[in-house]
Amino acid sequence: MPSRAAILRAVGACARSPVISRLLRSFYRRRANIVYYHGIWPTRSAALALFYGIDLDTFRDDMKTLCRYFRPVSLDEVLRANDAGETEGKPPIAVTFDDGSDLAGSGAADVLGDLGIPATTFVVLACVGNRHLMWQHKCSAIQGMRGDDIFVRQFNRLTEKLAPGSSVRSPKEHVARARLWPMERKDEYADALWKACDMPLVGEFLEEHKPYVNWDDLEDWRRRGHEIGLHTRTHPFCSRLNAREIEAEIVEPARELRERLHLTSVPFAYPFGDRLPREQEEGVAAMGRLSCLLGIRGLSPRGTPPYHLDRARAEAGLHDSVFGRPLLHAGAERHRRILRRNFSRWTRS
Ligand SMILES: [Zn+2]
Repeated sequence: MPSRAAILRAVGACARSPVISRLLRSFYRRRANIVYYHGIWPTRSAALALFYGIDLDTFRDDMKTLCRYFRPVSLDEVLRANDAGETEGKPPIAVTFDDGSDLAGSGAADVLGDLGIPATTFVVLACVGNRHLMWQHKCSAIQGMRGDDIFVRQFNRLTEKLAPGSSVRSPKEHVARARLWPMERKDEYADALWKACDMPLVGEFLEEHKPYVNWDDLEDWRRRGHEIGLHTRTHPFCSRLNAREIEAEIVEPARELRERLHLTSVPFAYPFGDRLPREQEEGVAAMGRLSCLLGIRGLSPRGTPPYHLDRARAEAGLHDSVFGRPLLHAGAERHRRILRRNFSRWTRS
């Protein structure tokens, strides 16, 4: 029995065949196509094991593939086209990056420049200039430097003190468990974990790896024709924030970013795709002058209000998230019929 991921990849591969891709073009034209990555790191660099993301060679291949099937445009253009009807030609797509990693140093900005792809980077404001190591990067760096066993053992020692019976069995489970932490204490807990795992001083670690952009890099990024958005101040689960914390994590940093970069509005991407309660979203977007609030549940139907839009996770593989998954979930009956009729033939070849 093939795994779900294998089926998605097979469907995605089929979707890219010339005949099918023509048929599917209208499908993507009826979507607000936005994809996201985390960091892009030089191939075989140490950073790949320490921070979320993919290597530069994979990223370059992905971008070449996207250019064959889509017309890469700015996020702003996707938002403007979102209200309009079906577009002509290749469907537009926006490429975005979360967590504010250094995309120039890694070579990703040059790949984008060579292929003429405008992109948006979503920064964690506290991390700009490598002044702060984001708590989830503390967890990934511990796993990269100390191994999964030590991470799980020390994570469980911490989490058992906070809530008995809340151990995890694998590092993958720690995100769901951390979601239950009081958000104002997540950095304190991540620091305790860092110390318990005998990690180097955070300042020294940041100085050695410099994973994030600084303000000069952001100015350069804009000169290259790209956009800058907000990914909160310290990367909390937004659904767990109270009113004071929403102000500190979203509204206030959005104002700082606007003023520092002389912007009238900024796009916003939720960490973990964890949305505010729906009834709060428009009010918070208005307070922060946010042009959109982006989750991560895949490609949204065109016309979705900008405060409820989602993105597809491209770093999981384009076959899966961009070409496969949307087709299986879209409810586009015509495409489903085509897929059903031809699936066994395609997967055999
Ligand atoms: Zn993030």
